[in-house]
Amino acid sequence: MKKVIYIKPDANIHGVYRPINVNAPIVGETTLSGLKNPPPLSLYIHIPWCVKKCPYCDFNSHESKQAIPEKRYVAALIKDLEQSIPRVYGRKIKSVFFGGGTPSLFSAASIDEILSAVRMLTPLDYGAEITLEANPGTVDTAHFSGYKQAGVNRVSLGIQSFNADYLKALGRIHNDKQAIAAAELALKTFERVNLDVMYALPNQTLEHALQDAKQAVALNPDHLSFYHLTLEPNTPFHRTPPSLPNDDVSADMQEQIETLLHDNGYEHYETSAFCKPNSHARHNLNYWQFGDYLGIGAGAHSKLSFHDKITRETRHKNPKAFMENAEAGNATDNIWTIAQADLGFEFMMNTLRLTNGFEKSLFQNRTGLPWDAVSMRIAKALNKGLITQDLQKISPTLLGQRYLNNLLEIFLN
Ligand code: SF4
Repeated sequence: MKKVIYIKPDANIHGVYRPINVNAPIVGETTLSGLKNPPPLSLYIHIPWCVKKCPYCDFNSHESKQAIPEKRYVAALIKDLEQSIPRVYGRKIKSVFFGGGTPSLFSAASIDEILSAVRMLTPLDYGAEITLEANPGTVDTAHFSGYKQAGVNRVSLGIQSFNADYLKALGRIHNDKQAIAAAELALKTFERVNLDVMYALPNQTLEHALQDAKQAVALNPDHLSFYHLTLEPNTPFHRTPPSLPNDDVSADMQEQIETLLHDNGYEHYETSAFCKPNSHARHNLNYWQFGDYLGIGAGAHSKLSFHDKITRETRHKNPKAFMENAEAGNATDNIWTIAQADLGFEFMMNTLRLTNGFEKSLFQNRTGLPWDAVSMRIAKALNKGLITQDLQKISPTLLGQRYLNNLLEIFLN
């Protein structure tokens, strides 16, 4: 029996970062003595509608059976941002990410209106990375040029596969030809493009998974994300599972895709992320380095640091409820302080996804806790061969990367 690789992609393909213990009970405020400076701040903007719900998808996305209330939603997003400003006042926004759902369902004029409001209300950093997720079935030249004029400088395309049969099995609205056409159009319009591809698809062979990877590499984007398809609870695929490749075949797919990408100049820098030199996804990297993010829009999550606490926030998931509450001045559904006892795990859950790991000093900078708070658990992970350390850095070994869930369990209270 070969090793089993099963890692839930927490930083999911649509940009919404979902902490594992988001439903943890609200705990009283902690007093952090060591948090000297706020971490870099990113802005996540959620657009919650799709043309059709895919059977494997558990994101907060809703099939648009009627006309999307685009204007009202844009106004609600801006209200949400206005209401959030006191909690991020004066802090520069380093990156912006439009995720969903399908943000490319929105017009360029709406994206422009949202970004104009971001510039008016916050000190958006000069040269900030501004990414928009697009569905190959919903893009055209006019949309892409309009997004670029609005300030979007990076596009993330949900390709998933270049094979018509697998796209059909995944319930996607685009076909193989549209996948390639959308990627070529994105690459013609934007310097920075990510392609999301999945493997271990229903009845997929190793050869077909590699064909998808070769096609992705042939297009030559600066960034690629490869995700193992997982059966998430409360999805049609979970209720009626399709026939999936077994663990051995999935592990072979992962290994051979990683080798292919490496041989073609892509650095494997995070569990599922690969990039050409200096082309890391800065927005996602901020999540993985336990940076701060303000998430606005239906169901969006935030993590914000203050001198005495680190908080998480959620918005109302249902788009209608979100709009009504944002209009009433109450966009935020829930705010809670991360318990001090959970900070070590939360930090590791993000940073150990990075193949190069993290500088030890980052732990105190981002959690406000002394290194002692995790040193016993670090020793345990070292003993098991799941991480390595030198004077400055902690990095997951290949074993730690392959068995990330086991590594993280060591830090779980
Ligand atoms: S397009 Fe993306 S967000 Fe929409 S249903 Fe499919 S997987 Fe989910």
